[in-house]
Amino acid sequence: MKYPFLDLAKVNEPYFDELSEAAVRVVRSGRYIGGAENEAFEQCLADLTGAPYIIGVSNGLDALRLILRAYVQLGVFEKGDEVIYPANTFIATVLAISDAGLVPVAVDIDEKTMNIDTSLIEAAVTERTRAIMPVHLYGRVAWDSELVALASKYNLRIIEDCAQALGARTLAKGLHDSPFAGALGDAAAVSFYPTKNVGALGDAGAVLTHDPQLARTVRALANYGSESRYNNIYCGYNCRLDPIQAAMLRVKLPHLAEENADRFEKALVYNRSVRRVDVVLPEISREVNDQVWHQYVVRVTGGKRDAFRTALEKAGVGSEIHYAVPPHLQPCYRGLAHGQLPVTEKLASEIVSLPIARGTSVEDAAEISRIINELDF
Ligand SMILES: *Cc1c(COP(=O)(O)O)cnc(C)c1O
Repeated sequence: MKYPFLDLAKVNEPYFDELSEAAVRVVRSGRYIGGAENEAFEQCLADLTGAPYIIGVSNGLDALRLILRAYVQLGVFEKGDEVIYPANTFIATVLAISDAGLVPVAVDIDEKTMNIDTSLIEAAVTERTRAIMPVHLYGRVAWDSELVALASKYNLRIIEDCAQALGARTLAKGLHDSPFAGALGDAAAVSFYPTKNVGALGDAGAVLTHDPQLARTVRALANYGSESRYNNIYCGYNCRLDPIQAAMLRVKLPHLAEENADRFEKALVYNRSVRRVDVVLPEISREVNDQVWHQYVVRVTGGKRDAFRTALEKAGVGSEIHYAVPPHLQPCYRGLAHGQLPVTEKLASEIVSLPIARGTSVEDAAEISRIINELDF
């Protein structure tokens, strides 16, 4: 494949020397759980986002699970309470909700932003609704004043799934002072899965919050439910961040803005160059940086998405689908009640993600656009 969808070795190539040095530093330190690497990583993420409390954890799913479990532990949520989430998301969003004994309630998405359609949220609110979990999907911030107003009206927590949008910001007011995704709501989960805009060299994640009590509970839950050795306050987990990954992330996090800018350049090239009536391009919003292009997702109309992908692959261009089957249609959620989700279900059959990560150059994006314009499918 001349233009693979993603080449992770190329993603990390610019950092090869620094990553190697950081790995050696950890090996020599003798400290393989917790410690200074983790503390420095957490400080770095606090500085980047403006969220005052950061807890490095094992991965993004665990970050979400820990937030929800902590709210249950603190008596803010009870088992059986409902959490509203966008129907178009990665399965982890929903797994975290059901894992905490809460009920996931899907709300359909907006066709343009492909994020939760805020205007549909109120109809999904019941007596048992306790939280909204916006997902900044594909790197685009899902946040507006209506969301904030609804949360305040019904006393709902806002928990951001920020796995795809680290570094994105919004002009709409958050609950706190920071304009950055991950620091807008009550708490947020970030993932450093290797394919994310800033990825570890393995699994890693973080919880971000402005709430010291929540932070303390999450940290304890992630460490066997204990704050001090052999004293278990909660029935917790082992969801700690490995110092070796903290060290890798300390190398890469300072380059977050560059990484996001690099993706934006390619998104612009695609948006300016691809010209086909049967390929609908994503909107580039006017708000600066409110989309960090974790994925560049086009829609192929007329039931020809799969033919498009096959032809594209024949022409040497890799692509992916994020996500082909929405969570509410997965076998594991058979039996879970949900309303009509027509936009999500339609888009699931139309969406295609094009190469946008490092390893795909601006020139490659121009050439891929030319290939798409001439593609016969
Ligand atoms: C990647 C991702 C997660 C989960 O993160 P992991 O680190 O892979 O567990 C959760 N939500 C969304 C939207 C994601 O893209």
